[in-house]
Amino acid sequence: MLNSKLFRLTASKATKVYFTGSGCCTDEWIQCVGSSYDIGRLGFSISETPEESDLLVIYGAVTRAELPHLVALYNRICRPKMVLALGACACSGGIFHSAKNKTVIAGIDQEIPVDVFVPGCPPRPEAIIEGLLKVRLLLTEPRMHGSRIDQ
Ligand code: SF4
Repeated sequence: MLNSKLFRLTASKATKVYFTGSGCCTDEWIQCVGSSYDIGRLGFSISETPEESDLLVIYGAVTRAELPHLVALYNRICRPKMVLALGACACSGGIFHSAKNKTVIAGIDQEIPVDVFVPGCPPRPEAIIEGLLKVRLLLTEPRMHGSRIDQ
């Protein structure tokens, strides 16, 4: 119990982020991690390994072929395994998902649980940062974990 509280406190003060994705949302995400918006100032750091990360950020359209890899990646993230879906493609399939195109899934929450959704095509860096702060809120408030937050 103490370990769990300690872990949450630590994760909420210095949240380690692992990210994966493709497509034009990359530009907005890079602005957030780069010097323009510098999420490091808010206590978020980029992790090189999923096993050391508190949060998985996913952006871009996800195809059925990619799904097994994404699920394997999710399984490697530390508990409580926070996930942020960034952009319309990750949230709902975006412009690439349609009845005719079965290769792109209608949002990653079809396969893995998502804690915070940041819609937009692409979302502004300010919206992404607000989403990250909502992840932090979920980390500090264990009772809220498992509840979806839509921006
Ligand atoms: S949500 Fe829009 S901007 Fe982001 S990857 Fe999809 S098409 Fe590109």
